[in-house]
Amino acid sequence: MTIKSRIKVAERFSGLGESQTLAITAKANELKAQGVDVLSFSAGEPDVSTYENIKKAAIAAIINGETKYTAVGGVNELKDAIIEKFKTDNNLDYSRDEIIVSCGGKHSFFNLCHALINPGDEVIIPAPYWVSYPAIVKIAEGVPVILDAGEEKGFKINAEDFQNAITDKTKMLLLNSPSNPTGAVYSDSELKALAEVAVKNGVAVMSDEIYEKLSYGSTDSPVKSIASFNDEVPGIKDLTFIINGVSKAYAMTGWRIGYTAGNKDIVKAMSKYQSQSTSNPTSISQWASVEALSGDQSKVNEMREVFRERRDAIVDGLNSIDGINCLTPGGAFYVFPNVSSFFGKTCTDSSSECTPIKNSADFASFLIDKAKVAVVPGGAFGADDHIRMSFACSIEDINEGVSRIKEAVTKLK
Ligand code: PLP
Repeated sequence: MTIKSRIKVAERFSGLGESQTLAITAKANELKAQGVDVLSFSAGEPDVSTYENIKKAAIAAIINGETKYTAVGGVNELKDAIIEKFKTDNNLDYSRDEIIVSCGGKHSFFNLCHALINPGDEVIIPAPYWVSYPAIVKIAEGVPVILDAGEEKGFKINAEDFQNAITDKTKMLLLNSPSNPTGAVYSDSELKALAEVAVKNGVAVMSDEIYEKLSYGSTDSPVKSIASFNDEVPGIKDLTFIINGVSKAYAMTGWRIGYTAGNKDIVKAMSKYQSQSTSNPTSISQWASVEALSGDQSKVNEMREVFRERRDAIVDGLNSIDGINCLTPGGAFYVFPNVSSFFGKTCTDSSSECTPIKNSADFASFLIDKAKVAVVPGGAFGADDHIRMSFACSIEDINEGVSRIKEAVTKLK
C-alpha cells in the first residue's frame, strides 16, 4: 500500500550543508579498518585522558548521590567556581545570575544565538571560522556575515574591518581567540580597538575563550578577554558574552560542560530555553567540573608546555616543505598551512586515481591517498587555500606525518 506521507525535513534545515570533513574522516576510518597505517591530524581534542583528580570527583559525586536533576543553569558550587575562575584568570566580576552552565561550549553558543538573535539579524563572523558558527547562526534564523581575516592579516580582523561590516541589522560579532582553526590570538591593543567599535555601535560580542588555557605567549600574560577592557572602554563588559568550558583545557570533551557569562536578561532567556530542551547539564559532569576549575591546575600547565613543543615541531616541519606556508599559531592546538601552491597540479605516479587538485578538499584527498595522512580541508572553515592539522598527537607522529607529506608532494607536477 502506498501512503501519502507528510514526513519531510523541516525547512529550517534547508541552508545547512553537509560537513566537508566527513568524507576525509570516512576515508581515514575505512583505511584504518583495512589495517592501513593512517596518521590522523584531525583531532579536535587533547590526546590525554581526563585528569585523575577530576575523575575521582565524578566518582565521589555518584557515590554521594549527586545523581538527580539540578538547577537548570548549573549547581551553585559550579557557578561559584566559574565566578572565581573569572576573577582569578580574567580580573572579571560576575554574579550567579550572569552565569549559565550548558552541555558543552557548543550548546552555550547555540542557546546564546537563540536568546539573542531575531530572524534576519546579522552576525559578523571572521573567516577562517569554527565550522559550527555559521550553521548555528542560521539555525537561529540569523544571517552570517563573513568577514575576511586572511593569512596576510594574521587571520585576524581589525577595528576598521569590523566597523565597515556593521549595518542596521548587525546584532553580534563572533570572536574566537585563540582560534580554531588558525590558532590566532588577538593582542590587548587589537581587542581594545574592537571593543571601541562594539561599544560605539552597541553591537554584542560573543567571545569564545575555550582555548584560553592553551596559549603559547609568555605564561605570565595569558590571553585576555575582550570584556576585561571595561576600564579603558566602558560598556564592553555589558556587551560581551564569554563562552568557555572544560572540554579542551581539562581534556573533558566527552563530559559536555560549557558555560556563558554575560547580561543577566539574556542569560535568563538562555536558561528558559535550556529548561525546555536539555534541562540541566549532567549532574556528575558538573561536580567533576567544580574540581577541574578549583583543583590543582598543574596538569593544564604541563599540557600547554607539551603542546608548545609539538607546535614548534609541526610549524618547522611544514615550513621545510616546498610549496607550504605555515604561520605560527599563538594558541589552541591547530596549524592552518596554506597549500594553494599545489592547486592546478596533478599527481605524476602511475595511479589511475590522479586528478588535478582544485581545492583544499582535493588536496586532503590526495594526502589520504598518497601519504596516508588525514587532515581537514580549509574549505570547511571558510578558507579554501588551507588545510587544518591538529597537533594533539605525539611528536613522533608529527615528524612521520611531515615526512610523508614532504615525500607525497614531490609527486605533484
Ligand atoms: N568553540 C570552539 C572554537 C571549538 O573549537 C569547540 C570545539 O571544538 C567548541 C567551542 C565547543 O566545545 P564543546 O562543545 O566540546 O565544549
